[in-house]
Amino acid sequence: MSRGGAAAVLITFVLGGVQARADDPKAEPKKGAKLTFGEDDEAPPPGPVRCEDCKKAETGLCAKCAKKVDSQHFFFVPLKGLKTAEDEAAVEKALGGVEGIQAFAASRKLKGAVFSVAGGKHVLLSAIEKALGAKFETDRKARLLGSARLVVEGANEVTPAIAVLEALGFEVDKKSPLIDKAVKKLVAMDQEKKTGSFNVSWLTAEAKKGKATNTLDALAAAVATTKCKLVDVGFDGPAEISFGK
Ligand SMILES: [Zn+2]
Repeated sequence: MSRGGAAAVLITFVLGGVQARADDPKAEPKKGAKLTFGEDDEAPPPGPVRCEDCKKAETGLCAKCAKKVDSQHFFFVPLKGLKTAEDEAAVEKALGGVEGIQAFAASRKLKGAVFSVAGGKHVLLSAIEKALGAKFETDRKARLLGSARLVVEGANEVTPAIAVLEALGFEVDKKSPLIDKAVKKLVAMDQEKKTGSFNVSWLTAEAKKGKATNTLDALAAAVATTKCKLVDVGFDGPAEISFGK
């Protein structure tokens, strides 16, 4: 995939990320059972839990959580205002109260918070920001890690969705006879809310080196070159699939 223009955002799509996780060989469909996919060998503890290893890690992110961020099972929100241990505790308290957030750790060293989302749950950045209150602001100029879902107002139709994809640095074959189908598969369109959701990952080598424009401000600016607007960011837990009745 070639990307042109200085403003090209180096991102890769989490192509069918949820479906890929559902292919987990460990997951055995049982009739009538409700299964959660994408989890580790260990069952997640009930309720929100703070990662003690992250608290001890030099970078504020333990190896296990870092791996989960890389594999797009954990998410990261860069935060301003994290200066003391009390700040970390306050952020963690707020995160623990956000519906859907499961494991979490806030860190001054990391300059943000890392967290997982429970199976079948969807957490919005706006909900996290609301829980955090005014003291801890999302750092929209900070480099992002891992992946997230961009919620874009006005991208609930194929044409504007293509414009957003292109603004994000993707080449779209508009002449392809399958283009409508392909875009509708890539972009989750909500006709009621008039939004399109784009799953993106910032896991390119360039992004890791900090060269890519992988900040919320840069992404919002890219989307704003179209008629659409970045209105929120989503973090999705692994899909819950029910078999049988
Ligand atoms: Zn951790």
